[in-house]
Order: sequence, then structure tokens, then C-alpha cells
Amino acid sequence: MSAVTDAAPPPAFDVAIVGGGLVGASLAVGLAPGGRRVALIEAAPPPATAPSWDERCIALNHASQQIFAALGVWDALAPEAAPITSTHISEQGRFGVARFSAAEAGLDALGYNVPLRAIGQALWQRLQALGTTALYCPAQLQGLQRDDEGATLQLADGQRLRARLVIAADGAGSRVRELLGIGSARRDYEQSAIVSAVRTTRPHGGCAYERFTPEGPIALLPKTRDAHTCSLVWTTPAAAVAARLAASDAEFIAAAEACFGERLGRFVELGRRQAHPLARVLSDALQASRVLFVGNAAQSLHPVAAQGFNLGLRDVATVIEVLDAAGADPGVAAVLDDYAARRARDRERVAGFTDHLVRLFSNRVPGLRGLRHLGLLALDLAPPLKQAVMWQNLGFGGDTPRLARGG
Ligand SMILES: Cc1cc2nc3c(=O)[nH]c(=O)nc-3n(C[C@H](O)[C@H](O)[C@H](O)COP(=O)(O)OP(=O)(O)OC[C@H]3O[C@@H](n4cnc5c(N)ncnc54)[C@H](O)[C@@H]3O)c2cc1C
Repeated sequence: MSAVTDAAPPPAFDVAIVGGGLVGASLAVGLAPGGRRVALIEAAPPPATAPSWDERCIALNHASQQIFAALGVWDALAPEAAPITSTHISEQGRFGVARFSAAEAGLDALGYNVPLRAIGQALWQRLQALGTTALYCPAQLQGLQRDDEGATLQLADGQRLRARLVIAADGAGSRVRELLGIGSARRDYEQSAIVSAVRTTRPHGGCAYERFTPEGPIALLPKTRDAHTCSLVWTTPAAAVAARLAASDAEFIAAAEACFGERLGRFVELGRRQAHPLARVLSDALQASRVLFVGNAAQSLHPVAAQGFNLGLRDVATVIEVLDAAGADPGVAAVLDDYAARRARDRERVAGFTDHLVRLFSNRVPGLRGLRHLGLLALDLAPPLKQAVMWQNLGFGGDTPRLARGG
């Protein structure tokens, strides 16, 4: 005789978001007012780091700023967002330079350099203030079973929940992808980005600089602390990472100055250094039955073009748009197909552009140096080409979601 159990059924949701990093938390905020029952499952406790002058920042483009405004978090971020009013792209040892300015685009800023900590905190505070999302945090997804009606999610602490649609926002090593047996294409760049902050003797003037060198690009972006403080992102070959991290501040500064040149004068103060190994990971699918992939779980990119999170935020805006138009069941095949079709072109374009940039500028073949030089000059001098690239970097190159257009 089988035992009779009277265990209560698991709580049921329309949407369960797995992963509350920047992308998952943005999506939860965007879905919170929509009237659907939404759960957010995040393994780490809500972000509680204190601000510091050398904390890691992320460059948001104009489309991302528009999306955050539509989600109601921009007002909280604005005081911590350093406007980028121009960009200056050059190659070590060459005169070719590509320059873009907000004035040419008819905007106040091309984008904003914002601490990751500030974005995370603003999103979680907004979620808690809206109060409609069931927060499972800290809680880790361990198992996933799907059927015709939805999916059952099993958490490591023994809890279970049901959802009609599961959205994987669980990062480049996505557990959801692994549980479903979905593969990914991985390209290891054998480089790390060493991230820090510097104070320079000349003011940044709101300009974001990127300088390509044979070893990889070095970028300096304005920070809000004062007119002389910048974020530093220095792409470093894997074999040189340990030595650069172990170097004294003075040695590190001397090497970074030699790479970057003198546009911002001397580097006079250096923050903490952190290394992030770089790889491109593209999920083999953007959807599976009852499941969608967003952010790094869908595609994780090299930071050379500062596009990874900006692209992920356009995934978020598209999910919101697609679910707004969906019927009672947000997990049916037509909704999933619509999302995947709308994201394909933007994703392919940005992932392709980013990868080409890494490989073009790290290639030491002599003839290519001349081509790169001509390419940067052409970019600076040819208005239609420049407009196209600028528009793409602002986040308007693909099928731009409504929220990114201020809608
Ligand atoms: C050096 C560097 C500089 C960058 N600069 C820029 C930039 O200037 N502009 C830009 O647009 N992009 C930039 N990026 C890219 C950007 O950082 C990422 O695209 C973005 O942070 C990805 O966010 P995500 O939420 O998709 O993934 P993640 O940040 O990886 O978040 C995934 C979340 O899922 C949670 N999770 C994982 N597994 C589970 C589980 N089983 N259960 C529950 N939760 C789980 C994790 O705890 C985590 O919080 C940069 C990247 C690097 C490395």
C-alpha cells in the first residue's frame, strides 16, 4: 500500500528568474509592475558593499540609460554616474585616431560610467520597494524538471517551486544550461582584464580613452570622484597577469603609463587591482521548452567594446516587451520563439563585432597594422561610417527594444 502524503503543493509562479546579478535583478524590476507572479532566485545575499573610490565600474550606453530610466532606477543611479561626453580610440605607435562626441550625436552624453555596486543596490532597493516579487535569496537552483504546463525548480535548501516560464540569468557558467544539457561555444582569449582606478595629473574632461597595444587594449574611463579620477581596464596576456598583480604600485603605474601614453599626464594614485580572466561563451540556444536565456547566460563577451551588460539589458527590455504582449501563459512556444527571433540579430552583431575587435587588434601581422591605422582614420573622417559605428555603440544598432528608445 502506498503512503498517502498531504504535503502542500509548491508555490506557483508565472515566471521564475534564476540569477539576480545585474541582468536578473533588472529583469525582476521590469516585470514587477506587470501583474504576473514572479520569483527571483539568487545564490548570493543581496549586495551590501560600501562605496570606495577604486570600485569596479561599468560603462552604460545611451540605450541602457533609457532602459534604467524606464525601470525607475535611473534617478537613484544618476548621482553616481559619470557622463561620458566623448571617446578617443587610438593604437600605440600610430597616429590614426577615432573620436566620437555626444554633441555629434545630439546627446548630453554617449553613456555613463557607473559603479557595479551602485547598480546592484539600486535594483535590489527598487525590488524591495515594489514588494511584488518573491525573493528566494540566498538560494541556489539545484534541479529543474519540465512538463507541458511549466517547470518544477528544486533549490539546494530543499524548497521547490513551480513556474510556467523559467528565465536563466545565471551567468556564463549557467546551471540551467547545464541541467538542460544545452551546450555552449567557448573561446578562451588567454587574457585577463586587470581592473583598477587611477588619479591622473590632467583632467579626463568626460572622455573615455581606449588605446590598443599589441598585448591588448588599455582603457581609462571617467569616474565621479573628481575630474582626475578614472577607471582603468587593462587587458593583459595570461602569462603576464601574475607579475602585474604582484608588481609594486610604482612599477605597475610605470608600465601602464608606457602603454597608455601621456594624454592624461602622469598617473599619481592607484587603486586595488583585480584580474578577470576573459573568454567568450555563447549558449547554443536562447530558448528551450519553458525556458529563456538572458545576459551572460545567453552570451558572455570580451569587455573590449564595453557591450556585455548593455546587450544583456536589451535582452531584458525585449523579455518585458514580449511578455507584455503574451497571454495568460508566458511560457508557450510562440512567446519563446518571438523572444529568440527578436534577439538573434543584435546578439550576432555585437558578439561578432566584439570578437573581431579583439582579434584584429591583437594580431601582430605587419600588414594589418597599416589597415588598422587606415581603419581608425577612416572612422574619424568618414561621416556615414562614423555615424553607423556610433549609433551601434549607443545601443541602437539592432532591433532596438521599445524601452531603449525611451518608450
Ligand atoms: C573586466 C570587465 C569589464 C566589463 N565592463 C563592461 C562595461 O563597461 N559595459 C558592459 O556593458 N559590460 C561590461 N562587462 C560585462 C558585464 O560585467 C556582464 O555582461 C554582466 O555583469 C553580466 O551580468 P549577468 O547578471 O548576466 O551575469 P552575472 O553577473 O554572472 O550574474 C549571474 C548571477 O546568477 C547567480 N547564480 C548563478 N548560479 C546560480 C544558481 N544555481 N542559483 C541561483 N543563482 C545563481 C550568481 O550568484 C550571479 O549573481 C565587463 C565585464 C568584465 C569582466
